Amino acid sequence: MPELPEVENVVRSLTPLVVGRTLSSVRTGTHDVAEPRGFDLSTHLQYRQINRIHRRAKRIVFTLDSGDRFYIHLGMTGQLLVEPYNTPAKPHTHLRFILDDTRELRFIDPRRFGGFFWMGQSLDAERDLGPEPFDLSPEQFHARLLTTRRVIKTALLDQSLVAGLGNIYVDESLFAAGIHPKKIARRVTLQQSARLLESVVSILNSAIHSGGSSLRDYLDANGNPGLFQLQHRVYDRDGEPCTTCGLPIKRVVLHQRSTHFCSGCQKR
Ligand SMILES: [Zn+2]
Repeated sequence: MPELPEVENVVRSLTPLVVGRTLSSVRTGTHDVAEPRGFDLSTHLQYRQINRIHRRAKRIVFTLDSGDRFYIHLGMTGQLLVEPYNTPAKPHTHLRFILDDTRELRFIDPRRFGGFFWMGQSLDAERDLGPEPFDLSPEQFHARLLTTRRVIKTALLDQSLVAGLGNIYVDESLFAAGIHPKKIARRVTLQQSARLLESVVSILNSAIHSGGSSLRDYLDANGNPGLFQLQHRVYDRDGEPCTTCGLPIKRVVLHQRSTHFCSGCQKR
């Protein structure tokens, strides 16, 4: 599923294609994927220009010339693709934003965990999100870990603690930092926190640079997959030998999320 690096690549590939364009119309499919339910997209979006697109956590935030904002969340299987106007759309295309230049921006999402979320001009629409890992000092990161009794894997998936991390990059970062996913977050020392934050930031940056990880459905706005899955050390490698010590990578389920780690390299 798309995480921070994939969403960052969608934003980067989308920006030159849609920023400055005006929305001629919006077409919706059979499923209502807008929040709030029943929201009238045409009234708020038609003839508005897209002034900016940016990433916040795993959200793709659009700012219109009216000052209103909305975001698209890709959920598990979402894609945003820019394609020529009126060409056949893929199954599960829920939204079509018709642009003023013979193209359209399409939101496709077979499993519908993603969607369109209207923010309007509300300033506290992002109140539920913690800071981005790139903006934290090791001390601030450590202080946040001390506030929870949960295991580190679960804590790092909590978007209010640190925003943007998901299953793949948490597993990879914990491996890189040598920390067991079941270690209690508040027992992580300042030194370990510093190493973990450094791993998180460097893995996210390399993944952004590689175009993200394409496991199932992920494509950027031009339809290109990412390549970072080739550099995964633990994620989706259960049973395969650890690249450091040779022991088989283990997979366990923690709070309904599959978790991959090396019992030789990662200590509780
Ligand atoms: Zn190992």
